[in-house]
Amino acid sequence: MQILNISNNHWVTTSNIGAAPDTINIYNSLTQKYSLDNMNLFTHFHRTTKDKITFKVMNAQKQHNSYDCGPCALASTTSLLHGQDPTQLSFSDPRTHLLMSNKNGPITPCPAKTEYRQPPVTVGVTKYVHCTCRLDAGSRMMGCNSIDCDEWVHNSCTFLNGEHSGDWLCDRCQTIC
Ligand SMILES: [Zn+2]
Ligand SMILES: [Zn+2]
Repeated sequence: MQILNISNNHWVTTSNIGAAPDTINIYNSLTQKYSLDNMNLFTHFHRTTKDKITFKVMNAQKQHNSYDCGPCALASTTSLLHGQDPTQLSFSDPRTHLLMSNKNGPITPCPAKTEYRQPPVTVGVTKYVHCTCRLDAGSRMMGCNSIDCDEWVHNSCTFLNGEHSGDWLCDRCQTIC
């Protein structure tokens, strides 16, 4: 679970709680399109071990003003951590609740009414990720030389000075050898 800032001006919750192993659920209080940079941020922080990721935009409550993305993201996060489904909740005044929680101790789930919303929309994007950084392909990469291995890494993440010549085996294949 991560609360991430996208495009330098907006907080969203991303989570794999209750998600398929190759899926990241996005809880966003605004309706928006996601850039490649946004998706890189999600895969990078989730450190997925899969090489293919699908993004699911969950039907989270929308903010009623221009500035409550942070409280909405915290309300979704807290409810997920307490086993609730934020897509079926309508939070009442998350900002005030969080301010009170902050004064009184641990953050508790935001008071909410149950509200039926449509099921989540699967974004038509499945992204391939590589390397220990779990980002997409870059211009300078090295592939593992083992026949059955699809591992690709960024030179800059893996090799001293970003340089490598000759054959190379990834960590997993080196262990098998
Ligand atoms: Zn990398
Ligand atoms: Zn390998």
